[in-house]
Amino acid sequence: MCGIIGITGHKDAARLTYLGLYALQHRGEESAGIVSYDRRNMHSHQGMGLVADIFDEAAIRSLRGDISVGHVRYSTTGSSLQRNIQPFLVCHKRGSIAIAHNGNFTNTSVLRERLEENGSIFQTTMDSEIIVHLLAQSKHKDCKQRVIEALAPLEGAYSLVMLLDDILVGARDPHGFRPLCLGKFDGSYVLASETCALDLMQAEYIRDIEPGEIVFITKQGLASIKPFPKRKHAFCIFEYIYFARPDSNIFGKNVYLTRKRLGEQLAKEAPAKNCDLVMPIPDSGSYAAMGFANKSKIPQEIGMIRNHYVGRTFIQPSQFIRDFRVKVKLNSIKDAINGKRLAVVEDSIVRGTTSKARVKTLYEAGAKEVHMRISCPPITCPCFYGIDFPTKKELIAANRSVNEVKKFMGLDSLEYLSLEGMLAAMLLPACEFCTACFNGDYPTKIPRHFSKKMLEKKG
Ligand code: 5GP
Ligand code: MG
Repeated sequence: MCGIIGITGHKDAARLTYLGLYALQHRGEESAGIVSYDRRNMHSHQGMGLVADIFDEAAIRSLRGDISVGHVRYSTTGSSLQRNIQPFLVCHKRGSIAIAHNGNFTNTSVLRERLEENGSIFQTTMDSEIIVHLLAQSKHKDCKQRVIEALAPLEGAYSLVMLLDDILVGARDPHGFRPLCLGKFDGSYVLASETCALDLMQAEYIRDIEPGEIVFITKQGLASIKPFPKRKHAFCIFEYIYFARPDSNIFGKNVYLTRKRLGEQLAKEAPAKNCDLVMPIPDSGSYAAMGFANKSKIPQEIGMIRNHYVGRTFIQPSQFIRDFRVKVKLNSIKDAINGKRLAVVEDSIVRGTTSKARVKTLYEAGAKEVHMRISCPPITCPCFYGIDFPTKKELIAANRSVNEVKKFMGLDSLEYLSLEGMLAAMLLPACEFCTACFNGDYPTKIPRHFSKKMLEKKG
């Protein structure tokens, strides 16, 4: 997963991009970068870590120009390397290209092999770099035609923003897996992964970039084309479940309200009748827990507090302090939990390891019973489109039954929302979504060598 931003025609382009990235930090904490263009030269600043640590006033000032793109990275393909930081910037004979990409292609190896046979030398291990080579190899003089030619062979998921010198390009794959929206600020166009970025920039939301749409934004205005055959929409439902920020509208609908509805639906399907309290696992489980408590009429309590200052790296305490990794992030409120039967609401279980440790701390805090309710179905299939669970081996629900997961976590009961229930809670028709991680119904062809390794079960 990743977050992307683009803005053109604003004297404070880089500063606004920085704000946008700040709002999109949840989409990737590994690295961040901004490239700007002053209509003569491209300027770039990037680094590993959080947006606030990478950029300071001097860095923002050095990013001159009125056009800018930015990226926060959560590595899914390509390892965590300095050279894999985006936006990816290159200069070639037709000018400069800077690209920021969210999503994964499913035909990366075929394309990369073909390009390498034709002489391309790749500088990174990211699939996104393929677009740059395809653009560079195109013989078309017209920029629009070059972009169409470069995007045409791509399969899988992409929402992207690019600078082709002074042209800001935004594009979304024909299935529309990942979000991308268009806004306006001070007469300038803005592209962003989520509307929460527009809010922080004080930009006005105009519309979503449509699946299969490419927009070219210049001083003359915005030109939109849809050059590719129509495909079935496949909006990532996991954006609603976990990934996007609740204050964003994704695919035109609000995330917070959707999560609350998921919780209400969960309470209808899997009530926890004899529980004293509904308790979320913060922060991601909090919204579904609200819906669950409202519907079930069980009082809601906060039984765990999240420490918001946990960075990616911290000094390990000595061996005898066990459970440090769990407790440093979430600490239980013993007096609120002790002796209580808890209905614990969580947005999702992926690998099961964090949840197991958290459940253990609840019992240690004196919980009499812990009944876990999950606001999505069991995740049984890997994602090839950019969510960070690429193999079946690591997915606990792909390798164990619900009852086995319950036992593994030491719970009194465990229930998941049904697929139908999840879809019913959405504010868009079911046919608009990709639900492959829950039912294996992949909207694109998955190359065999790719799928064989990824679909292998544990054991
Ligand atoms: P697990 O028990 O599977 O180890 O962890 C579940 C927790 O991870 C839940 O709190 C859920 O909100 C969170 N989660 C779900 N999807 C992702 C993801 O793609 N990346 C990360 N970092 N956390 C996730
Ligand atoms: Mg969580």
